[in-house]
Amino acid sequence: MEKPGIGIPFLEGKYSPTLDMWPLEAKEFNRTHTFYDNLKEGKFTTTKCKQCNYIAFPPRVICPECYSDELEWIELPKRGKVITMVEKWGGVAICFEPPLIDAWIDMGESSPVKRLLSRVINCEGGQLKEGDEVQLVVFDVPGHPIEKRKERIIAERVFFAFEPVK
Ligand SMILES: [Zn+2]
Repeated sequence: MEKPGIGIPFLEGKYSPTLDMWPLEAKEFNRTHTFYDNLKEGKFTTTKCKQCNYIAFPPRVICPECYSDELEWIELPKRGKVITMVEKWGGVAICFEPPLIDAWIDMGESSPVKRLLSRVINCEGGQLKEGDEVQLVVFDVPGHPIEKRKERIIAERVFFAFEPVK
């Protein structure tokens, strides 16, 4: 039997494109692409409303409080402390190795965003505790093909998680 025409070399056979849960980050597809552009430079940012000063995380294109679209980008700290976490060993999404660790992270009193939920990586199961210090880590995600001026290019992607401070 003949194989289907289009392979998925950009995903290295790890998972099917229909299960690709990473955002399309190219500016042609994503109005919060600045967040990912900043991540690529190692900056952790989000949006602040210029009308009512509401700070959202994750970043938005419209203020959820006053519906203004006049937003500016502000920088967030890259370290925090674990408030609480969950380790998932079962029901982990395909292409992720268990345990999948998610933590609420206290970003500190001076941070524009006081706490946020993030995945924690580079951490063995059973190791992470309340109060542990964690830091931002940016990692590469398989690129996604996009059409640009009738040309097919692979748009590079990154995503973030936190990891324990050693
Ligand atoms: Zn607002």
